[in-house]
Amino acid sequence: MKAEIIAVGTELLLGQIVNTNAQYIAQECAHMGLSVHFQTVVGDNPERIRSAVEIARGRADVVIFTGGLGPTQDDLTKDVLAQMYGRKMLIHEPSMDAIRSLFSNRGAHMVESNIRQANWIEGSDPLKNETGLAVGNALTIEGIHYILLPGPPKEMKPMFKNEVLPWLHGVMKVPVPLHSKMLKFAGIGESNLEHAILDLIDGQTDPTLAPYAKEGEVTVRVTTRALSIQEAELKMMPVTEEIYRRLGAHLYAERDIPIEAVIIEDLAKSKRTLAVAESCTGGGIGDKLTMVPGSGDAYLGGIVCYSNDLKHKLLGVPMDILEGENAPGAVSSEAAISMAEGMLSTAESDYALSVTGVAGPGSSEGKPAGLVYIGLAVRGRETVVRELQLSGNRESVKLRAAKSAFYMLWR
Ligand code: ATP
Ligand code: MG
Repeated sequence: MKAEIIAVGTELLLGQIVNTNAQYIAQECAHMGLSVHFQTVVGDNPERIRSAVEIARGRADVVIFTGGLGPTQDDLTKDVLAQMYGRKMLIHEPSMDAIRSLFSNRGAHMVESNIRQANWIEGSDPLKNETGLAVGNALTIEGIHYILLPGPPKEMKPMFKNEVLPWLHGVMKVPVPLHSKMLKFAGIGESNLEHAILDLIDGQTDPTLAPYAKEGEVTVRVTTRALSIQEAELKMMPVTEEIYRRLGAHLYAERDIPIEAVIIEDLAKSKRTLAVAESCTGGGIGDKLTMVPGSGDAYLGGIVCYSNDLKHKLLGVPMDILEGENAPGAVSSEAAISMAEGMLSTAESDYALSVTGVAGPGSSEGKPAGLVYIGLAVRGRETVVRELQLSGNRESVKLRAAKSAFYMLWR
């Protein structure tokens, strides 16, 4: 089944309004498994609407119109279609009654043209419009399903959901739509995660599970076919709960969102603040946090201190931690703790993270590439530190170090 969307309106052609109806309808069609092959925009002109319909009926099984169902002379969609197929234009009495009572309730005078909004192509099914006056039409002619919807989005959208979807399910075999849910994990690599749920991945046919790694995070997509979101949720629940039972300590969201956005949300909710001392991530943590809209209330800022000298000057890390024959060095738990504590007292924030490590490719201070220490200082609590051995090239070590820092704070 191929669909075409025809948006009618000169305003669209002039660029005065954006064709958001086509976007909405296209998304809904994709969701129900109906492929939209073409989208057309045509002005309020009978010949050109006619030619758009002629083209569409040669290449689509479902043609969905939006716009041009109103009362004025430039609202032509119904007239053009009725003429093309030699159908009579009737008045849909329930819609006419609704229009009449609306005008009499308002004490307003109904003009002749308002009758047009109750127009109804002979042989079509009316599509109820509960937020406006123009009745929609749905009809099948010569094997092609035509659906006529009004232009105002606040009318078109509820009609699509409440009237069009059931109508389409009635007239054709529409595949049951796909629903997906994203489970997002942090602090665990793709292979460890896959290992933990391998039996579920192999054993599940509906829903199906697909793990993949992207930008330092691991995602498991849970997919099923269902007629409603509620039904899909019910089908996904047992396997989602099992995954939670096994990997709950790493599962930070059940929607497609990066962990830094969850951090910002949590901080905003609890009205807490964060500052970050970054060495090997070079500002990457601050960059990610500031990509989240509204991060300004939670993320105060940070200090990027790459050299030992700056770690000492800006964060007060003692030189005897950083340098000297028996010193632990800049890549050490001692340095990470001191950086986090220095950051916390400088920023006067509730939390401070620190990251120091060897991004690679070579070793540094005699320590291997990928060795990273993350410190977390919390007001009124003892500072904690984690040692990680991350794999990958320089770029991915930096990215994973940043994500690991977020994970440490999230836990
Ligand atoms: P009305 O009864 O309001 O005249 P109508 O069905 O005749 O409705 P149009 O006259 O084509 O629809 O458009 C009415 C309004 O709806 C437009 O001014 C615009 O605000 C909005 N609209 C129309 N088409 C679209 C579209 N494709 N995308 C987004 N908004 C639209
Ligand atoms: Mg109009």
